Amino acid sequence: MQHEDPAPRPVAVHMLYDAFRSAYDRARESVPKEIGGFIAGYLLLVRSTNEHHLVIEEEIPVRSRSTALTVEFLTEGAREVADRINKLRRSGLYVVGWYHSHPGYSCYPSKLDIKSHKTYFREPYQVGLIIDPINKEACVFQVAEEPYNMLPFYVWRGPRWVIKESL
Ligand SMILES: [Zn+2]
Repeated sequence: MQHEDPAPRPVAVHMLYDAFRSAYDRARESVPKEIGGFIAGYLLLVRSTNEHHLVIEEEIPVRSRSTALTVEFLTEGAREVADRINKLRRSGLYVVGWYHSHPGYSCYPSKLDIKSHKTYFREPYQVGLIIDPINKEACVFQVAEEPYNMLPFYVWRGPRWVIKESL
């Protein structure tokens, strides 16, 4: 039987500004409640270093039940979300993780966030983006190490990088 290589893990995450902005604005407008959704993109192999970078081009809002401390995705509206994901897949974008907001309590994942990530986002290229619109922070985690590890996160806007977060 042939041994299949696992999908690569990204060493850094890059998000297009428009997608970041729309997630960020929704997070800010929903304070004090949490919001969330999926992120779609692809892995890019940088040949000079032989490393993979994750590029996020779209965010997909998901209706959720939320309080100031937790967010839970609902199946209500799931059909529209599935349609959008299928459409994105046809243009080469895959669900590369999820995002949610932490209004005012920093962008580090909670124990529950890590548990959800391990349950629903098992692919090695899938990451979690957390946005804190009150402290104006955003960061990305994955679970390559226990309990989690942070990845360098960049937001791309036209010809220059606007956010450079090396955590
Ligand atoms: Zn959280």
